[in-house]
Amino acid sequence: MTRSAWPQIPSRYLDRLLGTETHLRVRMARTLMAAAVYALCVALQWISYGLGFSDLQGTWILSVLCLAGPLGFAVAVRSGLSSRCREPSLTMPQMIFAIATVASAYHVHAHFRGTMPMIVALILVYGAFILTPERCRQLGWFALAVFATTIFFGAWTKPATFPPDVELFAFSYMVMTVLPLSYLAGQLSRLRSKLQHQKQTLRAMMEELRLLATQDHLTGLPNRRHVQEWMPHEIERLHRSGEMLCLAIIDLDRFKRINDTFGHAAGDEVLRVFARETKAALRAGDVLARWGGEEFLLIMRNTPLQDAEATIERARARVALPASWAAFPHTRVTFSAGLTALKPGQTLEQAVQWADFALYEAKNQGRDRTIRAEVDEAPPSQDYWNVFTTI
Ligand code: GH3
Ligand code: MG
Ligand code: MG
Repeated sequence: MTRSAWPQIPSRYLDRLLGTETHLRVRMARTLMAAAVYALCVALQWISYGLGFSDLQGTWILSVLCLAGPLGFAVAVRSGLSSRCREPSLTMPQMIFAIATVASAYHVHAHFRGTMPMIVALILVYGAFILTPERCRQLGWFALAVFATTIFFGAWTKPATFPPDVELFAFSYMVMTVLPLSYLAGQLSRLRSKLQHQKQTLRAMMEELRLLATQDHLTGLPNRRHVQEWMPHEIERLHRSGEMLCLAIIDLDRFKRINDTFGHAAGDEVLRVFARETKAALRAGDVLARWGGEEFLLIMRNTPLQDAEATIERARARVALPASWAAFPHTRVTFSAGLTALKPGQTLEQAVQWADFALYEAKNQGRDRTIRAEVDEAPPSQDYWNVFTTI
């Protein structure tokens, strides 16, 4: 086991600091990261003051701003106050505050004012990953307005430190940087939302494909392909654990007549209602799949044969209820079933083959019944007729 070189913060402290809800934790982590950058800036301000580059009053004001601002945002986010806002992470207010603070630093740390537009650029680039294109552009215009005011104020109150002609040049360069940058940030943000949209579409399509590949579109039941993929693994597991598994092939009786009498669409509806009603009669854990046409496969895990029979008869009783077939007057929908228990070492195909033979026998004996195939070995041979039991 490897151990991190960093001291681990116990998760209960982290939970208390960041909260436990995922979105809140992300918001808090971002806000605290910004707070750490502000704290670093405060340290730099005091070093700069110590070296005689800035005055005490300005350094104090800026330091209080740099500490109170992020603290206020962190409290608003952590307390849940910000969740009442349209944008609970308060990204736009935090960025507006950051730009206003950088503009104040431009005035206080006149020696280093050349670096401030770079920080504004950084804020705008960061915005591209979070804000909408419109917000990115608004932020660019806001930055220019705030800096124009700061420069004007500086040139007016301290013309020796902020010579108006030099400042005008500096501001022109800033316009030339900030405007294209906010436009680019907007483009980047648009690209990001397009990618996000594509990702969502792709995810929805993948889910649709998964359903198409595993689900029968008519009844919503698992389809044959899905069962054939999944069951062998399940059977292997059952063989190892020694659990019982019963399989039944269920086939609607004289279904062709329903199609011929009421039409194919009505036949489809009968299949849907049959699937719904049968499923309702099953226990949790039983699986009903559409095996093809009007044939269904019922899988009953951890079930002795007697219980499996009882389940099928419960389904038979439910399917026979007239309420299910109100739309099909004078019609009795019944089914025949071939039931088998999976024997040690048997494959899905072998078990289904046995259930199929039992179903065939159920049809032969007059339909609307379940026949149980009790066999000890697989696959079925010519004399399989001796092994069936009528239920
Ligand atoms: P049996 O009691 O012997 O099973 O008679 P049956 O009429 O049910 O059996 P048969 O195999 O002769 O007919 C099955 C019919 O099921 C034929 C086919 O057109 C119909 N069928 C298969 N799949 C669908 C389906 O998805 N929708 C509809 N409406 N009919 C289907
Ligand atoms: Mg049939
Ligand atoms: Mg059939």
